Amino acid sequence: MYERERLELVDKLSEKGIADIFVLKAIGEVERHLFVPKAMKHHAYKDIALPIGYGQTISQPYTVAFMTQVLKLKPNVKVLEIGTGSGYQAAILYNMGADVYSIERQFEIYSATRKLFDQLGIRVNTKCGDGTIGWDEFAPYDGIIVTAGSPNIPPSLKKQLAIGGRLVIPVGNKDSQTLNIVRKTEEDEFEIQAVPEFSFVPLIGREGWNQK
Ligand code: SAH
Repeated sequence: MYERERLELVDKLSEKGIADIFVLKAIGEVERHLFVPKAMKHHAYKDIALPIGYGQTISQPYTVAFMTQVLKLKPNVKVLEIGTGSGYQAAILYNMGADVYSIERQFEIYSATRKLFDQLGIRVNTKCGDGTIGWDEFAPYDGIIVTAGSPNIPPSLKKQLAIGGRLVIPVGNKDSQTLNIVRKTEEDEFEIQAVPEFSFVPLIGREGWNQK
């Protein structure tokens, strides 16, 4: 279903500057309509964010593609995602062959998405909890992707990044963020590149925004 719409979305993202063929291939294969609420299915292949309930959103396809592209993933790498949400971003990473670990803090979203992964046969490791402190047990990660906006770069995530790995995280205030692309060059040494003008829901947790 929706094959033509998916290919049109791939064309649109490539026109907007997404050039990584593996990312484009994943966007062409992962069925985004399965990750949005039923009433939103007919909007699933528009390049827009959509509400998924509980005040959260599934990120815009361009944002998903851009963040995935900047991770520069090699085959069989380990990736940590903070903010599982609908599961679409995790499904893209899984489709590209990554070993994916994903954390969601809201239990209702976590359990609905866990169920969806099982139904679709998407083998992603999930956990319900505060992702600002990472997932130490499986560290280091070759890539870390934070899909909610943070006031800063959580130190735990920098620590859990492998040397040579990349962390992508929106940093700023609650309305607008710059996308920070952090590359760990050596233990405790980082190169940071910032891309302006993104807008995400807030990252809430010990090393993120306070609850209220
Ligand atoms: N990657 C998701 C985007 C979901 S929006 C997708 O593809 O649909 C961001 C998600 O981050 C929300 O579901 C929100 O509940 C979650 N979140 C916010 N703070 C978090 C934290 N500290 N740890 C884990 N998840 C968090």
